[in-house]
Amino acid sequence: MPDSPLDCLSSLSPWLVGLETLLLLSILVSWVVLVRWRRQTLRLQAELARDRRQLQEAKRLACLGSWELDLLTGRLSWSDELYRIFEVDPASQIGSYTLFLERVHPEDRDKVDQAYRTSVDQRTPYRIEHRLLLPDGSIKLIIETGETFYADDGSPLRSIGTAQDVTETRQLASRMILMASAFEHSGEAIVITDTSNRVVMVNPAFVRLTGYEPADVLGQNPSMLSAGRTTPAEYECMWQAIREHGFWQGEVWDRRKDGGVYPKWLSVSVIRDENGEIRHHIGHFTDISAERAAEARLHHMAHHDVLTGLCNRFSLQDRLDQAMAQARREHEPLALMFIDLDRFKVINDTLGHHIGDELLIEVSQRLRQSVRESDVVARLGGDEFVILLSGIGQTGVLARLAEKLVQNVGEPYQLSGHALYTTPSIGIAIFPTDGATVDTLMKNADAAMYHAKTEGRNNFQFFDSKMNDLALERLQIEQSLRHGLAHNEFLLHYQPIIDMVSGRVRAFEALVRWQHPQRGLLAPGLFIGVAEETGLIQPLGDWVFWTACRQLAVFQAAGLDAIKMSINISAIQMRNGNLPILARGAIEAFTLNPSDLIFEITETVAMQNPEETVRLLNQLRDMGVTLALDDFGTGYSSLSYLRMFALDHLKLDRSFVEEIGKANDGEVICDATIGLARNLRLKVIAEGVETEAQLNYLQARGCEMAQGYLFSRPVPAEQAVVFARERNNKQVVDTLTQQEA
Ligand code: C2E
Ligand code: MG
Ligand code: MG
Repeated sequence: MPDSPLDCLSSLSPWLVGLETLLLLSILVSWVVLVRWRRQTLRLQAELARDRRQLQEAKRLACLGSWELDLLTGRLSWSDELYRIFEVDPASQIGSYTLFLERVHPEDRDKVDQAYRTSVDQRTPYRIEHRLLLPDGSIKLIIETGETFYADDGSPLRSIGTAQDVTETRQLASRMILMASAFEHSGEAIVITDTSNRVVMVNPAFVRLTGYEPADVLGQNPSMLSAGRTTPAEYECMWQAIREHGFWQGEVWDRRKDGGVYPKWLSVSVIRDENGEIRHHIGHFTDISAERAAEARLHHMAHHDVLTGLCNRFSLQDRLDQAMAQARREHEPLALMFIDLDRFKVINDTLGHHIGDELLIEVSQRLRQSVRESDVVARLGGDEFVILLSGIGQTGVLARLAEKLVQNVGEPYQLSGHALYTTPSIGIAIFPTDGATVDTLMKNADAAMYHAKTEGRNNFQFFDSKMNDLALERLQIEQSLRHGLAHNEFLLHYQPIIDMVSGRVRAFEALVRWQHPQRGLLAPGLFIGVAEETGLIQPLGDWVFWTACRQLAVFQAAGLDAIKMSINISAIQMRNGNLPILARGAIEAFTLNPSDLIFEITETVAMQNPEETVRLLNQLRDMGVTLALDDFGTGYSSLSYLRMFALDHLKLDRSFVEEIGKANDGEVICDATIGLARNLRLKVIAEGVETEAQLNYLQARGCEMAQGYLFSRPVPAEQAVVFARERNNKQVVDTLTQQEA
């Protein structure tokens, strides 16, 4: 036992030492624990801060803000992101429900308020989408969620919620929808391929255009569409452009699933990723067959005559240039035929343009069929055609071809129920002899054609340098004809028609003359054709008719009472419907006997439209006038029509009378005509009787009447009266003498 406290202490000291150590140890442990706890706390705080930062970052990235509304105090606290979304400065304003509602688009405000209140009342979370209207007028789209917590007694304590700005997402989505819809509804076919140029997507227009379903082409190379017309070199060019410029466009030919080949206008663009690597190719294309067809049509229209489909003037010029260049190189001649239809204007003016058009189409077909495929047939306009012939050899070949054309074109036409006739006048010029340039050759072929016209039409003529003078003359006539009409430069000569039996003058044929101020007295052959073509025949013909009728009245008043007047009727007068009116007017004005008027209609004019001729002749016959078919034998009368024409006389053309006594077949035709006329109960007037032999021959064949230089040339009226008086008196005397003898 210890004696003293010290002893006691000293006895206790081992214990004390132990206690101290224990204390120190426990302090040490506590400190260590404290340090660890502190460290852990700091770490946790750091983690918390990091999480909060991350949460804020995430919220910022997600445009997600949060709020909390203390329903007891009415205080609304907003997260930073919410301030950003609402574009409110957190320093200047504190969030409140009112502030929140103020930012909501006025049109959505009630809806939002309602949703929140209902959620609180019904204790259900809410989710609503609405708009914000910001002070600068911009609009944001928000998805708002919220939930409310309640006290045990059920009273609401606080609401919490989020607001997410989905404006950009929505805009992106609607842009995507728009783009997808553009892809779907595009009129252009779109095909998207991957890096190895395999199809990954096609749109409905692609399906429509190519006929291939997506399943047919997905995973395939678009070259499967090719029609095989684009060469590998062309494709290489295309790919090079795509590689270098990221874009190419051009025309390629593809084949549809049904095998149809079509041209398409293709654009190919490249889509690269952020590293510049090609990710996709986008090809879009349209079918351009319609455009190509329209272009071809335009080209055809520019080079062809719309009515007949033949080459037009423009393309003839082109072809002529080429042909001339080749002919020069190969030292080969070329021939140019200028073809004009005789009296086409008359048909056109009298039967109407649609018949005229039909006739032109038919003529163009006959021309085309008459020459080789390689020859160029062109229509210059109106009734003018040109044929360009190469490899022609000798002129004999040309003449035979021209003859064939005259024959083919001259065959009757059946158009819209009309039997029509037209004939061609053809002028031929040869390169290089008749012209070394396009213009000269054309001009000279034209001159040759006019020569063919003056040679009685319905024939062909080779160019001769003298013809240019004739062409010039014709042009001058055309110009001065109008002036001549206005200045009374025309006059009539009268040629007697003799009765073969009595020898007396039975009639006079009125034949027009032009007293040209510079060129003297001109015969009708020089101007009637021009007058017909220009339409001036109408006033001229009316003047002739009226003057001849007045003269007949004068002749009869002068004692030639049994005399008739024969008047030549032009094609235009025949067709315009005025003739009966004109005749009736003159008959009444000069108190004439209608049968004293003989209307001479040339055979070719009568046959141009025989049905119409039948109608008109019947009408004239009903009026009582006498009707004669002039120049018989020169046209192509069909017997059946001849029988239907209400005629009184046939005038046998001079060209046959001329042949009487010669070895040709003129006599045969004269005999046949006289026989035919007798069968048809018509009287024959022989034209151009110049010799006694002709007269005797005709008389022996029973020809009733004759006219010709043997009796008298056409003479002015005064001489005609004297001639008739003398002739008729002489005949009276002769008859009396014969009777006495
Ligand atoms: P056409 O009606 O056959 O007239 C007869 C033509 O023969 C007249 O020529 C006349 O002078 C000519 N002739 C008469 N006898 C002989 C003869 O013995 N020998 C020769 N070589 N010729 C003879 P012209 O006067 O030059 O008239 C030519 C044509 O012009 C006429 O042929 C007629 O078709 C037309 N023509 C004349 N006057 C008129 C007219 O007023 N109106 C119309 N539309 N045509 C007319
Ligand atoms: Mg006549
Ligand atoms: Mg005649």
